Amino acid sequence: MTKYHPDCEAPPESVHVVSDEASGLEGMIVLHSTRLGPAAGGCRFWRYHTRSAMAQDALRLAEGMAYKNAMADLPLGGGKSVINAPASFFDRKRLFEAFGRKIEELGGQYVTAEDVGTSVADMEVVRSQTPHVAGLTQQAGKPGGDPSPWTALGVFQAMQTAVRHKHGTGLKGMTVAVQGLGHVGSALCELLHAAGARLLVAERRADVAASIACRYGAEVTSSAAILAAECDVFAPCALGAVLTEQNAGKLKASIVCGAANNILATAQAGDILAERDVLYAPDYVVNAGGIINVCAEYLGWSIADVEARVEATGERLARVFQHAEATGLPPHRAANSLARAKLAALPRKAA
Ligand code: NAD
Repeated sequence: MTKYHPDCEAPPESVHVVSDEASGLEGMIVLHSTRLGPAAGGCRFWRYHTRSAMAQDALRLAEGMAYKNAMADLPLGGGKSVINAPASFFDRKRLFEAFGRKIEELGGQYVTAEDVGTSVADMEVVRSQTPHVAGLTQQAGKPGGDPSPWTALGVFQAMQTAVRHKHGTGLKGMTVAVQGLGHVGSALCELLHAAGARLLVAERRADVAASIACRYGAEVTSSAAILAAECDVFAPCALGAVLTEQNAGKLKASIVCGAANNILATAQAGDILAERDVLYAPDYVVNAGGIINVCAEYLGWSIADVEARVEATGERLARVFQHAEATGLPPHRAANSLARAKLAALPRKAA
C-alpha cells in the first residue's frame, strides 16, 4: 500500500499497482472512493520519472474525481489510473490489453475512460478485455463521443449562476476573458457571444485566436496579459494551476469560472481570491459536463439525461455558494467540505 499524497485531504480506499512484464505495463489504479458507486476516472498515459511521482499524480487525481463525481450527483465513486509510458519501443495494443485485464480483475470497482495521453482507440482495446470502460466510439443517438460541448455548456451555466450571485445580473454586456480556445474554450465563446457577453481571448495558436475574433468580435490579448486584464469574468480553459499565490492578487476580474482542471495552484491561492472578494467557482463543480457524458455512456442513459444534468450545473454551483456563505468558508473549501460530507454519509457500495 502506497502512502497517500500529502496534498490529498483523505486517504484512498485502495491502491492497485499494475504491471505486466510481457507488454511493459507499469502503472497504478487508485480507488479513492466507491461509496457512491464504482470508482470512475480516466487513464493517464504519461512518462513519469519516478514511481513516487506516478503515485502522487494518481492519488491526487483520484481524489479529485471522487469530489467531482459526488458534486455532480452521479452514482459514481472516484478513481484514476496512470500508466508510465515505456521509455523504449512497446506494443501499444498489448499494453492496453494487459491494462484491460487488470481492470477486469477489479470486478467493476473501477471504470476507466480517456485522459491525457489516451484515446478512443486505446479504450476500444481495453473494451476487448473488460466492460468497465467508457469513452468508446460513439453510437448514433447515444451519449459518448467528444465531451467538450457538454463541458462548455456546463461552464456557461455555472458562469450565469456566478454572475447572478455576484452582481445580480445576466451575462449580457459582461466582459469575459477566455484563456485557451481549444475544444471547450471555443464552444464556450460561441455560447457567451450568443448571450451578449463581450469577449477577450488569449490562445497560443494565433490562427485560432484570429478566427474567434472574426466570428464573435473578440478582442485578442496575450496569455500573460489576460490574467491582469480589465474584465468581469476570468475563464481559464487552457492549463491547470494558472492562479498562484503570486498572481492571485493581480487579477482584475471579480469572478473566476472556467473549464481547466485544478485552476488553483494551491488552496491558499483560493484564499487570496476570497480575501479580495473575487468569487471563485470551483473547477470540478463547473467542468463536470464531460464526466456526466461518460457516466451516461457507461450506464446507458439518454442524451436528454445528459442535457438535463449538465443544465443543472448552475444549481449545483449555487448550493456551493450557499454553503460557503453559511459556513464562512471560501467556495473552494466549501465545495471540498460538501463533497467530503457526501462521501462520508453513505456506506461503501458493493461492486
Ligand atoms: P484543448 O487542448 O482542446 O484546448 C486547450 C487550448 O489551450 C489549446 O487551444 C491550446 O493551444 C491553448 N493553450 C495552451 N496553453 C495556453 C496558454 N498558455 N495560453 C493560451 N492558450 C493556451 O483542451 P480542452 O479539451 O478544450 O480542455 C481545456 C481545459 O479544460 C483543460 O485544462 C482540460 O483538462 C479541462 N477540461 C476539459 C474537459 C473536456 O470535456 N474537454 C472536461 C473537463 C476539464
